[in-house]
Amino acid sequence: MRTKDRASGEEALTTLSTVSKNGIMVNVRHTEISCAESPFVLMNIHFSGPCDNACKDCHSKALWESKPLDKTDLEGLMREAIQYFIDSGIIDGICIMGTDNPDKYEATKILVDFAANIGMRSIVFTGYDLMTAIRCYGYADYFVVGKYHKGEWHENKSFYKLLESESGDLLYTEISMHEYLNANTKGGPDGDQIQLRPEI
Ligand code: SF4
Repeated sequence: MRTKDRASGEEALTTLSTVSKNGIMVNVRHTEISCAESPFVLMNIHFSGPCDNACKDCHSKALWESKPLDKTDLEGLMREAIQYFIDSGIIDGICIMGTDNPDKYEATKILVDFAANIGMRSIVFTGYDLMTAIRCYGYADYFVVGKYHKGEWHENKSFYKLLESESGDLLYTEISMHEYLNANTKGGPDGDQIQLRPEI
């Protein structure tokens, strides 16, 4: 299985140039550097705006409404990530939350592709099933799948890890929460492989 190569700043800027041409805006309530949701140090990106999942006990209902100040240009967000990842070396990647609504699909997919291009890890939290998530967001390194139930942390969620074969096939394998939380301390694939290659 391949491992990701860390890109140079120049490669990162080449990736950025495509986005800057499009001038894409997205609603982001806040970002923070955290290792609370994964075994990696990540820039957590919290989108605001409608969430298709409408979990009964949503812990983030305030994010359902986007505020004028949430409007952020995607290029600026990516520059911030590059600064933390390549320039300062203090994060391993990005984690994107609050993605599940069509108005956020494009931005999420761009962020996932961007991470792949420069060697950052990407994690997407979603209430969709895995196949829908892949169609909407592309191939994140990890998908954490499942709706929120009151009182749980990630206990009722499913965890999927992306693997890439030497021939370039992309495969997802389901791993346990324990394997997910220890993913930074193990080499090689985890868990039993469920091989998927959906059309996107
Ligand atoms: S997926 Fe998250 S933000 Fe969306 S309704 Fe459920 S708990 Fe709230």
